[in-house]
Amino acid sequence: MRHKCWPLHPQPMEGEALSSWLERVASQYDLLLGELMQYELGYEISAWDLNFNPPIALLKSIAQRSTLSFEQVYRMTFKSWVPFIVDHLSPESNFFETYVFQYSVLLPVKFRGSSQVIDWYPWLSGKPVLRACLECLRSHQTPFIRLAWKLPLMLSCPLHGCRLQVCTIYPSYYVSWHEEKAIISPLSNTALNMDKLTWQALMMGEVNLPNRVVHAGVWFRLLRSVLNELSLPLCAYPTHSSTIKSIWEKCGYPIRGGLHSWRPYEYLSLDIQIRLLEGVATALDMMREKEIHPRAQDTKLFSPEPLYEGDLRSSLTPPAKSKDQSPWPSVMEALELAVADARANRESARQLYFFCLFGRKDPDSIREINSLFSGLGIPFTFE
Ligand SMILES: [Zn+2]
Repeated sequence: MRHKCWPLHPQPMEGEALSSWLERVASQYDLLLGELMQYELGYEISAWDLNFNPPIALLKSIAQRSTLSFEQVYRMTFKSWVPFIVDHLSPESNFFETYVFQYSVLLPVKFRGSSQVIDWYPWLSGKPVLRACLECLRSHQTPFIRLAWKLPLMLSCPLHGCRLQVCTIYPSYYVSWHEEKAIISPLSNTALNMDKLTWQALMMGEVNLPNRVVHAGVWFRLLRSVLNELSLPLCAYPTHSSTIKSIWEKCGYPIRGGLHSWRPYEYLSLDIQIRLLEGVATALDMMREKEIHPRAQDTKLFSPEPLYEGDLRSSLTPPAKSKDQSPWPSVMEALELAVADARANRESARQLYFFCLFGRKDPDSIREINSLFSGLGIPFTFE
């Protein structure tokens, strides 16, 4: 059955949150978001649930009433970032270790300890604090909210280089800046450079590291791993403390950004989160400039030195081989076709996943295959 198209609906901004766009649609008819959802679409759903994990049927109904494709509507939700920024949207017991301990950059794996955190989602679990870019909002007629402004992912707006500021936004109506909470100090180029990489991951699905392109899923897990490494107490890694101390010294903040007792990054105050993000940006820059030389499993990803293909888990392309020399060209072609099919087809992804896991059920194997699929851009959670 075809539904009547909304005669008035603004185009979404780049990276806009679904709730923000729908609030702007609702304002065209002098409705509130809840009224539009309930009377027009038959759903009672909060703005958070709309952005986080809305029913697919609802997204299809929204697409039918607008000139947007289903894909455009879907891209305005956190759901579209699975499995890149989050592995899946259903909590599991060891999700934290699977995500945060997947990579190690500043500290060897043995110093990371063990942490059981329940009901945790990367970047999402804490109380959301909205931060926005003054210039983005100045340059558009009506206020709106980008999805990324709702997460503690970046310090700045990569489009304008402005520090994101705490605020309250009523899309289409007004913005209220929380000046007493705003941090107005200028940002370093290192922080701006890191945010550009994060924005590239969100918008393009991949990131250019010093001499390698990695998948967005790899970037977010690397970022989250370094945030955790910088939040650990010095006594956890006495033989490596000088490296971490030098990062904080260059940053101008106390050790651990002033954090006293460890909690997952998502549950920390915004002030500490901002300092930890600046700490990560500084650490990446110091590695690039060879001011520090950590020796962890994935440090080489940030090294300015040339790398050999296949020596890191981020490798997305197989090493080039002459067809005359290699006995595997047809196998490689078949694998590439299978991977391409799995990226686009959920059932093919499921079959490939269980093929790779054949005969193996231990957590290390599952983690290994999840990491492989994430690196290849294949969805790997199945309901
Ligand atoms: Zn901006």
